[in-house]
Parts: sequence; C-alpha cells; structure tokens
Amino acid sequence: MYALRRFAVRHSRSYEWFYQRFERAIVALDPMFRTLGYQRVERPVAFIEWGVKSLLFDCKMCGQCVLSSTGMSCPMNCPKNLRNGPCGGVRPDGSCEVKPEMRCVWVDGWDGASRMRHGLERIAVVQPPVNRALEGSSSWLRVAREKAAMGRDAHVSADPSKYALARAFRRARRLEPASAPLAKEPAAALADQAVAETTAVYDAPSAADPKSEEPGQ
Ligand code: SF4
Repeated sequence: MYALRRFAVRHSRSYEWFYQRFERAIVALDPMFRTLGYQRVERPVAFIEWGVKSLLFDCKMCGQCVLSSTGMSCPMNCPKNLRNGPCGGVRPDGSCEVKPEMRCVWVDGWDGASRMRHGLERIAVVQPPVNRALEGSSSWLRVAREKAAMGRDAHVSADPSKYALARAFRRARRLEPASAPLAKEPAAALADQAVAETTAVYDAPSAADPKSEEPGQ
C-alpha cells in the first residue's frame, strides 16, 4: 500500500530499531527451524512475510531483502528493478519517469537512509544483482540460515558461483546476509523453474574444499 510504504520511509529509524530486534529473534529460532526442517517451514513463513511486507513496503518477495540498506524503500518497486540507485530519469520533482504518479523509490530511499543510524553508509554499499531463482521465498528464513550458519561455523559450504558472488559483494553480504546467500537453499525456497538446476549445483559440499570458507571470516 503506497501510503504505508511512504510512512515506512518517514519512520525508517523506528523500523530499523524494530527490525534489528526482530532479526535477532528470527536468528535465535534457527535451531527450531532446523529441527522442523527449513523445507517444511518455508512456505508458511514466506506467506506470513508476504502478508506483512506487502502491506508495509509493497514487497515483491524477491527473497533477498535489502530494506535496511535502502532507507526502508523497497528497490523492487522501481519499474526497472534497480538495486543500486536511481536511473537518469528522475523528474525534477522527484517522481519516477516511468510512473510519474509515484515518487522515485531511490529518492525515498535516500530520504529514509538519512534518518537511519548508519543509513547513508549502508545505502552506498553496492548490492549484488538479484537472483530471480529466489523470488517468492522467505528472506527472513534466508537471514536466519545465513547468520546462524556464520555463528555456528565459519566454513559454510557453497557452490563456486555463489562463493564468487559472496566474495565480490563481501560488504553487502555482511550488511544484508540474504543478498548473497551461501547456505544450502531448501527446494521450497527456489522458484519452480530453477529447482532442478540449482539443487543440482548444491550437491555434496566438500569439507576439504578451501573455497568452502566463508568470505571475510
Ligand atoms: S527488497 Fe525484496 S524482500 Fe525486501 S521488501 Fe523489497 S521485494 Fe520484498
């Protein structure tokens, strides 16, 4: 809902405060998620996440949430889905060139970031391209998986292409663990057309493989 989306930007500091605590809580639930199985909880949690975030942020469920680095303005609402700042078409009044009735999400993002504690530092960090295979999945669970894996063991297994992306966007990953995930994805978290391909890539990680080390650890 557009009015609530704008409200989130205006109150980004409060949202940031709340999210930091929420994130800690959801990471603490990792043992429970692992007991139940991430595969099993994916769909219900993604449904709740969609309900909450579509109302508050017009979330498009990209699965790799970066709201804390974009001033609480969801970049997927940009008609061009730009994840790293505005295009050259922002109108003089700050509205979008494609949808003139909408304020540019990056003008809002800067506004929101300037109210947050480290918002202007975070918004300057380059984000990796969005992985469409993760569309529709829960970013909350992805953060729980990634952060809990980092805490449990610095050596997170991953396929080489994921590892290369995580290395290339080390800072973004540190701030937004879901933006370049390494932990194994449950099949339920992958877009249907990508399931076969991506699960094949995630086969049998080798503990001896030096590339399986967590970047930056
Ligand atoms: S960045 Fe992705 S997960 Fe976060 S609000 Fe936007 S579409 Fe939803």
